[in-house]
Amino acid sequence: MWFRRDLRLDDLPALRAAASVGTDGVIPLFVLDQSLLNPAGPNRRRFLAESLRVLDRELGGGLVLRRGAPHRVVPEVAAEVGARAVVTTADFGPHGAARDQSVGEALSAAGRSLLTIDSSYVVAPGTVRGSSGSPLQVFTPFCRAWKSVDWERPLPTEGVRLAVAPSDATVDDIEAGVSVPSRSGLPEWWEGLPLGVAERLPPGGLSAAKDRLERFVMGPLADYGEDRDRPGVAGTSGLSPYLRFGCIHPRTVLMQLGTSAGADRMRTELVWREFYADVLWHRPESARHPLQAFGNHLHWDSGARAQERFRAWATGRTGYPLVDAGMRQLLTEGWMHNRVRMVTASFLVKDLHVDWRLGARWFMWHLVDGDLASNQHGWQWVAGTGTDAAPFHRVLNPILQQRRFDPDGAYVSRYLGEPTASSEPDPWAVGDGYPDPIVDHQLERREALARFRVARQAVAAEKAARS
Ligand SMILES: Cc1cc2nc3c(=O)[nH]c(=O)nc-3n(C[C@H](O)[C@H](O)[C@H](O)COP(=O)(O)OP(=O)(O)OC[C@H]3O[C@@H](n4cnc5c(N)ncnc54)[C@H](O)[C@@H]3O)c2cc1C
Repeated sequence: MWFRRDLRLDDLPALRAAASVGTDGVIPLFVLDQSLLNPAGPNRRRFLAESLRVLDRELGGGLVLRRGAPHRVVPEVAAEVGARAVVTTADFGPHGAARDQSVGEALSAAGRSLLTIDSSYVVAPGTVRGSSGSPLQVFTPFCRAWKSVDWERPLPTEGVRLAVAPSDATVDDIEAGVSVPSRSGLPEWWEGLPLGVAERLPPGGLSAAKDRLERFVMGPLADYGEDRDRPGVAGTSGLSPYLRFGCIHPRTVLMQLGTSAGADRMRTELVWREFYADVLWHRPESARHPLQAFGNHLHWDSGARAQERFRAWATGRTGYPLVDAGMRQLLTEGWMHNRVRMVTASFLVKDLHVDWRLGARWFMWHLVDGDLASNQHGWQWVAGTGTDAAPFHRVLNPILQQRRFDPDGAYVSRYLGEPTASSEPDPWAVGDGYPDPIVDHQLERREALARFRVARQAVAAEKAARS
C-alpha cells in the first residue's frame, strides 16, 4: 500500500484492497520524493511529518519510509518483498497523474501492477458531466450535478495484517531544512522575506482530524451559514489541512454533518473543493495559465516599485488593516480565513496590479492546506480569470470588507494589536507605528478597470483578426 495524500486508516478503500490482494500481509510504504518536498514549504512539511508519525504509531511502527523518485523506489520495494501489486489511492493532479503513469509502467515492465483505487474526493474528478456529457465549468450546475451522483458510504478498515520491510529514511528527514529553508529556486522577490515555519500550526494526523471534526459538528456547524464569513469568530471547521493530506476523507465529514442549514452550506463548500479538482483535471494548464483569454493580456506591474509593494503585502504592511491582519495570520499560523484570502488576493491583483501567479506562489509556500487546485483556482476566481470567476469589475474594497465582516475588529486586533477605544469601529484604529496606506484604493480600482478594458479590447481585436 503506497500512501500519499491519504494518511489515515479509516475509510481507506485502497488499504482494504491491498489487504485482499495478497495473503502475506501489506507493506505500508511512504516515499520521500524530493521533487514534491522542495516546493512544499516548511509548514506543509512539518504537518506531513507529524501526520506520518501518527500514522506510523497507528500502524504499530510498521510504516516503511524510502527516499527517492517513486518510479524507481516503488518497483524496487515491490521486487524486494515479492509483491504482485502495489495499491494506491488515485491522484488526479497533473504531477501525480504523470508520476503514477511512470510508476505503473515501471511496475508492469517487471510483471507487477499498480492498482489505483478511490480518490481524495467524494466524486472523482472527471465523473460529473453536464447533460451533453461535457465537463461543467460553472460551479452552480456542477454542484447540482454533483449532488445527484451516488457515492459509496465509508467502510471500516479492519483486520489488515502488516508485513515488514526496512526503511532507508526517517520522518525527521522530511523536517530537515524546515527551520532554515533553502532559498534555491525561489523568486528573487522573496529575498529577506519570512520563509520559515509558522509559530502556531495545527497538529497533524488522523486523530487530530477526527477531534477537529467532532468539535466542529458539536459547535460551530449550527451557525456555519452565518459565521463562516466572519474571520474574528471560530466559525469554520479548520479541516482544510487534514483534507489536504487525507488525514480524513470528505466522505467521513459528509456523514457527520446531519441535516441543518449549516450542514447544507458546509456540503456546498466541500463541493467547491471537488469542483476545482475537476476543473484542474480537465484543464491542467489552469494551474499556471488564466482560463479566460483576456487574462493573458492583462498588464501586470513589475520592477522595483512592484517588488516593494509585493513585499509590503507579503509581510502585512500595506496600511490596510484587514489585508495586513490576513497576511500576518498566514505567517504566524500557515492558514488564513477564506474571506480574508479573498480580500488579500484581490488587493494584490487589483490594488497593487501584481500578477496573481506571484501571490498564488506565496500562498502555496506558506499555506499548511496549500493545494494546487483550490489555491490556483481560488486566485483565478479573485483575479476574474477563472472558468467560474467573480466578474473582473467586482473589486473588493478592503475597508468596506472589514466593516462588514469584522465589525467589532476582533480579527484585525488579534493580528495587529489592540484597537484604540472607539464607540464606532474604526478600521484605522490600530497600534502605533502602523504604516500609512501604500496605495489609494479608489484610484487603483479605476486603474485595474482601465487595464481590464484594454485586455478585453485586445481579445476582441484578436477575434476580429481571426474571422
Ligand atoms: C485565494 C484563495 C486561495 C485558496 N487556497 C486554498 C488552498 O490552497 N487549499 C485549500 O484547501 N483551500 C484554499 N482556499 C479555499 C478556502 O479558503 C479554504 O479551503 C478554507 O479557508 C479552509 O478553511 P476551513 O477548513 O476552516 O473551511 P470550511 O469553511 O470549514 O470549509 C470546509 C472545507 O470545504 C472546502 N472549501 C471551503 N471553501 C472552499 C473554497 N472556496 N475552495 C475550495 N475548497 C473550499 C475546504 O476543503 C474546507 O476545508 C483558497 C481560497 C482563496 C480565495
